Amino acid sequence: MASRNPKSEAVYSQLFNALRDAGFILSSKQPDIVISIGGDGMLLSAFHKYEHLLDTVRFVGVHTGHLGFYTDYRDFEIDKLVENLKMDRGAKISYPVLRIVLQLKNGDKFTYRALNEATVKRLSKTMVADVMINQVHFEQFRGDGLSVSTPTGSTAYNKSLGGAVLHPTIEALQLAEIASLNNRVYRTLGSSVVVPKKDKIAIIPMHNDRYSLSVDNKTYVYDSIEAVGFYLDNTKINFVATPSHTSFWERVKDAFIGDVDV
Ligand code: NAP
Ligand code: MN
Repeated sequence: MASRNPKSEAVYSQLFNALRDAGFILSSKQPDIVISIGGDGMLLSAFHKYEHLLDTVRFVGVHTGHLGFYTDYRDFEIDKLVENLKMDRGAKISYPVLRIVLQLKNGDKFTYRALNEATVKRLSKTMVADVMINQVHFEQFRGDGLSVSTPTGSTAYNKSLGGAVLHPTIEALQLAEIASLNNRVYRTLGSSVVVPKKDKIAIIPMHNDRYSLSVDNKTYVYDSIEAVGFYLDNTKINFVATPSHTSFWERVKDAFIGDVDV
């Protein structure tokens, strides 16, 4: 699937023809491999479209701009991608996914999966919420909201919030504050927190009000939330292992530092 711009659509037809000529069966219903053409945002959309097939599907990202975090190929590397897919024997590289369970006061439950992060914000006023880590009441948060991110999501919204960049093979979740109020009365940790695989983070909003739950590139609105729980999902996202895999630190440098003239 490709994002809607002339460049992505041109890459799409070029790739489509090359794969068809190479004898691949091209189907959007039950794919073994999903190729996303666009940016990291496009890969997020592809992830959500094929979320129900996460166990069996492998993803490939083609970036039509700069090199991204979920994209191993650039738009001028279509031939290389087709060659690599011809030699493919099913090798994969997997990254953790976040599971979100939102429970309303009436008992209704909604579950989501996020590849980057989920955030909880109160729409009208300052959000006041208890933060639990496992069975420990960790803090009472006051501020705009809270974000829980995956390792691969650590370079996205989480980074703008002052969170740490985690290597994607570290199986952990990161809780980051969105503009917390800190003074003599209200106190939160201030820094982001990285919790291991088995730990659960829960956010319990204090007021009966409207809240937004953002899950990657989508936002949902709920009234009367009892609690929102965050876990590492049992299922990971699989990518087609690329022979010439760009190192994660290379990507971080390319995206955020570049080549600085000294
Ligand atoms: P968008 O607003 O169009 O793009 C957000 C930017 O984040 C794009 O430059 C995107 O790269 C990049 N990005 C996405 N995932 C990334 C990752 N894992 N590591 C580093 N950069 C990443 O929204 P979108 O494309 O639909 O993406 C949704 C994401 O935007 C959310 O999951 C959240 O992480 C992020 N976001 C960030 C802020 C913030 O930093 N203040 C606020 C809201 C949301 P591409 O150009 O390659 O697509
Ligand atoms: Mn985008």
